[in-house]
Amino acid sequence: MTNTATICHSVSEMRRFVDERRRAGHSIGFVPTMGALHAGHARLLERARAETQSVVVSVFVNPLQFDRADDLEKYPRTLEADVRLCESVGADVVFAPGVRDMYPTPQVCTIDVGHLADHLCGKFRPGHFRGVATVVMKLLQIVLPDKAYFGEKDAQQLAIIRRVVADFNVPVHIKGVATVREPDGLALSSRNVRLSADERARATVLYDALAAAESAIHSGVTDVEEIRSRARARIPADEMLRLEYFDVVDPSDLQPVLTIAGPVLIAGALWVGNTRLIDNIAVG
Ligand code: AMP
Repeated sequence: MTNTATICHSVSEMRRFVDERRRAGHSIGFVPTMGALHAGHARLLERARAETQSVVVSVFVNPLQFDRADDLEKYPRTLEADVRLCESVGADVVFAPGVRDMYPTPQVCTIDVGHLADHLCGKFRPGHFRGVATVVMKLLQIVLPDKAYFGEKDAQQLAIIRRVVADFNVPVHIKGVATVREPDGLALSSRNVRLSADERARATVLYDALAAAESAIHSGVTDVEEIRSRARARIPADEMLRLEYFDVVDPSDLQPVLTIAGPVLIAGALWVGNTRLIDNIAVG
């Protein structure tokens, strides 16, 4: 369904486009991204395409959410290819603002996400979710979508966005989309391009560990320490690999659980060389 997408670089252009589409009676679907788009992002865009009449995708590497300068600097930027992917799935607009367009003056007011950032990635990336919540709120105010699409791969982010939208009465439906994986289980991520062939071969152990935890739960193990140790046993001693966290939390408030008594989210972060990978499995 290749079409030509409009590219907006400024906030005012973006607002004008959405305003015109709204006047024409269109519903607006929105997919916020940081670019370096892959088939995981495409899945979000396809959902938006199927469920709304005008599809907006933003490509913005948000400095506010990076806790390490080298990660921000090395983050892949591939706008031309991104636009082609957006067009191939029928997106109508690519919103690609510069940092000065999004932050013409330093951002003084930010969103504190409270205890939702105390565990999982929030514990290891200070300020990250404040930056995510803040930029997503800004983008939602610019695009004013009816529906916005987020990947379950970033489960903590999705839970936080749902809560921000509820707490601030933002009139948008937040849609979660299942994680797209490589055939060997590795979750697609823009950071995967940084993996060497050796690292790529080892990167699947995070999914293996999550799957081991899931099967322990399905087989009736309720002690979370036991579940974690079975999962950790799947990560070989290897100087290329460093497990940052592996936690079992309540999916609603993202607080750790000690015993399985209902739905849980199993989530982990693994450093493979200099690349940090995250993944999770929700167990009903
Ligand atoms: P990012 O560009 O990494 O900020 O991701 C933009 C959106 O795409 C977020 O909502 C992510 O959760 C989602 N996403 C990234 N990777 C995947 C994947 N493998 N499957 C599904 N959604 C994804």
